[in-house]
Amino acid sequence: MENHHPQDMDELIRMHHPENDEQYTGLQVNAGIEQPPMVSPYLKRRKRRPKLTVNDYVEGIRKGNTAVLGQAVTLVESMVPEHQVVAQEVIEKCLPFTGHSRRIGITGVPGAGKSTSIDVFGMHVLNGGGRLAVLAIDPSSERSKGSILGDKTRMEKLSIQPNAFIRPSPSAGSLGGVARKTRETIVLCEAAGYDNIFVETVGVGQSEIAVHSMVDYFLLIQIAGAGDELQGIKRGIMEMADGIAINKADGDNVDRANLAAAQFRNALHLFPLPPSGFLPEVVTYSGYYELGIDKVWDMIDRYFEHVQANGYFEEKRRQQEKYWMYETINEQLKARFYSNAEVQRLLEVKQQMVLHSQQSSFVAATDVLNYYYDTFNK
Ligand code: GDP
Repeated sequence: MENHHPQDMDELIRMHHPENDEQYTGLQVNAGIEQPPMVSPYLKRRKRRPKLTVNDYVEGIRKGNTAVLGQAVTLVESMVPEHQVVAQEVIEKCLPFTGHSRRIGITGVPGAGKSTSIDVFGMHVLNGGGRLAVLAIDPSSERSKGSILGDKTRMEKLSIQPNAFIRPSPSAGSLGGVARKTRETIVLCEAAGYDNIFVETVGVGQSEIAVHSMVDYFLLIQIAGAGDELQGIKRGIMEMADGIAINKADGDNVDRANLAAAQFRNALHLFPLPPSGFLPEVVTYSGYYELGIDKVWDMIDRYFEHVQANGYFEEKRRQQEKYWMYETINEQLKARFYSNAEVQRLLEVKQQMVLHSQQSSFVAATDVLNYYYDTFNK
């Protein structure tokens, strides 16, 4: 049809359209108006980014080029095997330039004020001459296909600072996978010269264990609420905390925040002294009104002084390396096992048998595992 001149087409329709028959009086069907193209012809196609080599990535990162750093993080997060190969090489080459940073984990329930606080804590770090990367681990992002944690829009002041790099949580994969990617991103950020790394997470599940395993200091943000302050706070999280900061100590809330602080201090005394040898401290502050930010930072400084003096800082990092070696092995074994097509088929069958009580779960599992081991022995 496009070959017709519009005028011819008009004629054609006029002649052949049944409703243009003489018996229909007063009705004339005309040809439609040709539509302009949907995409503006003046719009140039954006050029594809040239592919960077491993050395380009490493050089760019070392120069602190945030665009290259961002691209490298995207590679780390990618599920594409070729990307993973490049990413691993980049990480390997960046490793010698890492380790010279303070890695701080920040957790708290939704609404505790994490993003507000990270914004002001971050500015505090930058004003002191530091460079800061904010990363996140968001357990819900797997389901929602997008993470709100570490979102730039939540950190208004920081997001426009040239010395701050903010990256939301990687969204794909298991918690173990997401945690590994964040850990690898720490390596890249440190190689790019960020000497302060914040890793944010919501304190509602397993994710804080993952964060705890990759940071030097674990800060728990709390708010004073009505009733029992310690209610609903898992003992495990309290035990992991190197310090507790009670937010929203402003206006009418100051007394309640102080009371909560006293309760937390008492509770912490009931726990054995952590391996750091540093009894976790509790302070109150207001992220929104920027009150007491120094207090929070002095508390963190005291911890770092303490553990750097007693050697625990290094010891903990070595233990974390060991932990991550095993985590990586576990992750990869699992991934290999479950991605094996024959295993998947067998699991389907066995699952049905277990559901119909035709086989015990133990026997079914052993059968599948034995099948898998046999494939290696062949
Ligand atoms: P997140 O979910 O932990 O990241 O919490 P947000 O930082 O988004 O804060 C949740 C709500 O608490 C927001 O409405 C903030 O404005 C408010 N908020 C955060 N910090 C403070 C504070 O220090 N004082 C008061 N009064 N409100 C705060």
